[in-house]
Amino acid sequence: MNAVVDRNPGKKGRKFNDFLTYEDKTFNQYYLLPFRFIALNPRREILVNEIGDFLIVDKGTAEKIILKQLDSLADYELYNDLIANFFISKDKIPVLIDVLATRYRTKKSFLDHFTALHIFVITLRCEHTCHYCQVSRVSEDKNSFDMSKRHIDKGIELMMQSPNPHVTMEFQGGEALLAFDHIKYGVEKAKLAALTHNKEITFVICTNLAPITTEMLLYCKENSILISTSLDGPEFIHNKNRHKKGNDSHQLALKGIKLTREILGNDRVSALLTTSALSLDFPNEIVDEYFKLNFGSMFLRPISPFGFATRNEKKNKYNTDRFIEFYKKGLNRIINYNLNGSSFREDYATILLKKILTPFPVGYVDLQSPAGMINNVIVFNYDGKIYASDEARMLAEMSDFTFQLGHLDTSTYNEIFYSDLAVDITEAGINESLPGCSDCAFQTYCGADPVLCHSTQGNMYGHRPTNVFCQKNMAIIKHLFELMDSDPKILKLFNNWVRGN
Ligand code: SF4
Repeated sequence: MNAVVDRNPGKKGRKFNDFLTYEDKTFNQYYLLPFRFIALNPRREILVNEIGDFLIVDKGTAEKIILKQLDSLADYELYNDLIANFFISKDKIPVLIDVLATRYRTKKSFLDHFTALHIFVITLRCEHTCHYCQVSRVSEDKNSFDMSKRHIDKGIELMMQSPNPHVTMEFQGGEALLAFDHIKYGVEKAKLAALTHNKEITFVICTNLAPITTEMLLYCKENSILISTSLDGPEFIHNKNRHKKGNDSHQLALKGIKLTREILGNDRVSALLTTSALSLDFPNEIVDEYFKLNFGSMFLRPISPFGFATRNEKKNKYNTDRFIEFYKKGLNRIINYNLNGSSFREDYATILLKKILTPFPVGYVDLQSPAGMINNVIVFNYDGKIYASDEARMLAEMSDFTFQLGHLDTSTYNEIFYSDLAVDITEAGINESLPGCSDCAFQTYCGADPVLCHSTQGNMYGHRPTNVFCQKNMAIIKHLFELMDSDPKILKLFNNWVRGN
């Protein structure tokens, strides 16, 4: 039998004292539970606990709580709020600790089923030459840039091995519709495989809509395929951002949206905005365009601050401060539409608000910890290479293959999803343990992005004070809290957004 032998009986060898030594005997009316805090403005601060419950309080409250200067009678309301929301506890271990544990598990339940989104880059061909295009697209006629049927088969085979019972097969390009026969092949094959593997599949085609035809849409209807398109705002912005011979990209997008709605229904087509440097001066015009076109929501989304997209520095590289200013103005315009009686959401705010105002998890890849790449999304490139995320593919187009996880010709499921590289990426994508994030009040609402850190700061872990992902999220989350704190009408409106009213 093994036993621990004390080689120096009688000698005090312990470096640290027992926990009880540190217990404050004077102010012991309550115990602290883990929570973090941050100043919201010169008057107010926000406290956030481990499961994302928050309290906006007067400046100095966190200090008072931590120094145990809170009085259960004099500070009756605050004291009880703090108890009810798991910031402090009357007992060393709260009586309702199991409730806290269940809510924590619920928040992280997006991890239960592993990878859902499988992106198939079905072709690199495109008839647009957008200056911010993430990939170095090739012209229409080069068939060698289509994904081979062999690779489509292998991608489907891997998708069927996902533990997730509900997977999404998303076709991207280039312009995906230029390889519509390959899409059809993939859909037929995946549907058959799903029967054997008992999986539900959602199909999505990402397209600029220029090549769409009635026949294609009828096929989409028959197979419940969703359409995701790009719309950068009114014609003068969209056509400048999205170069195309004939300068008719905007006209074709609008025509395509109309036709898609007629055949598939209003809710089967969504549009995504990319904010170029030009867009920054026109937040109101861009919001108005989406509103005018009867979209129920829009996503004020910045350009990825790296890769091919930023080769054209003048058009695409801009300071995060400028984007934040644009975002705030755009959001304000959207809020005003709502206050005037319309229903129209901003998607990024809605995702964050769902994390802030509800106990539920959110499936949005960019705001997860562990990060959504691999855990939630995987990319099969047209040439068979497999990447951790769409941004990882973008880097590879710049000859940086740091995030290539394998190849459809040679790699097994385990070699892709459980490789040393996959473990390294995941480790760098856990904001609970990242310097800066680990004690940030917004940790539960935010995420981590190892690809962005690697490409903008030289390593997967990054440095928060100079990190654009952090600067953007910190500013937007603070702004949402300030809006809710300043106007009860906006708090009510935000609650409606997350509940889909
Ligand atoms: S990225 Fe920034 S805002 Fe997000 S959790 Fe980390 S420190 Fe906080």
